Amino acid sequence: MYDRNSQFAAEFINDEEIRATLAYAEENKHNRELISEILERAKDCKGLSHREAAVLLECDLEDANREMTRLAKEIKQKLYGNRIVMFAPLYLSNYCVNSCVYCPYHRGNKHITRKKLTQEEIAREVIALQDMGHKRLALETGEDPVNNPLEYVLASIKTIYGIKHKNGAIRRVNVNIAATTVENYRKLKDAGIGTYILFQETYHKETYEKLHPAGPKHDYAYHTEAMDRAMEGGIDDVGIGVLFGLNMYRYDFVGLLMHAEHLEARLGVGPHTISVPRIRPADDIDPENFSNAVSDEIFAKIVTVLRIAVPYTGMILSTRESEETRKKVLELGISQISGGSRTSVGGYEKPEDTDENSAQFDVNDRRTLDEVVNWLLELGHIPSFCTACYREGRTGDRFMSLVKTGKIADCCQPNALMTLKEYLTDYASEDTRQKGEAVIARELDNVGSKKVRGIAAARLKEIANGKRDFRF
Ligand code: SF4
Ligand code: SF4
Repeated sequence: MYDRNSQFAAEFINDEEIRATLAYAEENKHNRELISEILERAKDCKGLSHREAAVLLECDLEDANREMTRLAKEIKQKLYGNRIVMFAPLYLSNYCVNSCVYCPYHRGNKHITRKKLTQEEIAREVIALQDMGHKRLALETGEDPVNNPLEYVLASIKTIYGIKHKNGAIRRVNVNIAATTVENYRKLKDAGIGTYILFQETYHKETYEKLHPAGPKHDYAYHTEAMDRAMEGGIDDVGIGVLFGLNMYRYDFVGLLMHAEHLEARLGVGPHTISVPRIRPADDIDPENFSNAVSDEIFAKIVTVLRIAVPYTGMILSTRESEETRKKVLELGISQISGGSRTSVGGYEKPEDTDENSAQFDVNDRRTLDEVVNWLLELGHIPSFCTACYREGRTGDRFMSLVKTGKIADCCQPNALMTLKEYLTDYASEDTRQKGEAVIARELDNVGSKKVRGIAAARLKEIANGKRDFRF
């Protein structure tokens, strides 16, 4: 039976409830009165239930869809302004004992080069990332208790935080590793991770089991209950997501929102982020096999309705998406993107090796970080390298209450400008620097508090004079 407070996957991601929700959405997709009511209520930024969101996703009334787009843009602007937080993935190892049929790292793939970075190699990757200007990483590794035990991940985090090259520093390491035990999550927390990220891939149990035919990841309940264990282990910022294109997108969309509702109900705080990856071509993987792939149009609709349904949850878009798609969905609700990404093990230090045959997925957006930053500035966004919250202890429910009262913007805006200033001073091309300086001059006026604005203006000058790492 459906129970959002339950600790059991079968109850909080209840198949019957998802099916009933999809039937309800189908029944009401032209119900103007209900749709207007839902949209009206969504304006207060308190979010929507999975049933309400499913109705919006299914709705094909043109005027209502236009209103949804407008509302998503409005919510994005109100809560996130035009700031976009930048990050990069760092692949440590592609050894993996799982058999996910959509991933080239699956254990049966014999023609991929298996590679695990040593601590010295990790240090070189981090220096390369710092020299690009990155401050925030998402650490990725396959599941392999022999080659990539937790101790390896913990040692790698220590290495990453310990590298200070020129003015560079990685200030936040988010971690995307396989589902594990409460004890291991506690160790990750103690190592100072930011967000723990784990994608569900699909919430449809039967499909999940088919897509993960062997290895520990085959266990649907253990995987689905991972975020509960992570939070029990003290990690209060967790990131969820599905790989759109693996299953019926409607089913996964509802599952994703039910997962968010469950975390809020049972553990007091919803997910920190939601990622929206789509299936991409890769070695030994034929995307044609995934007949459920979502179109660009549906993808944009998913982002739109998620923004309306979970306004306070950051939304992450990867380099798998093309420049054109990125441009479109940025204004609809995305708040974090990767830039200059390499999805191969060791790909930052030696880009020529990249995609030879050790990349996890083809990257669609191949621009450098500077090109992406330049492009964002041109589009009117503020690229932000901010990592302040977790370093100031603003995590979990403390973070959420600041977000929900709108107070977080007093931190985000000046932090975005100060970290952008660091980037422009240390790493940007001349053209990017000029565009960035103009954006900083303009956007400083949009810092709400006069006092904070004054402090930020003084700190911007100090950054120009060589000081680093200011934060609100
Ligand atoms: Fe391994 Fe992750 Fe790839 Fe699955 S998706 S094969 S767990 S690296
Ligand atoms: Fe994110 Fe906090 Fe920085 Fe805002 S102040 S951008 S919420 S880390």
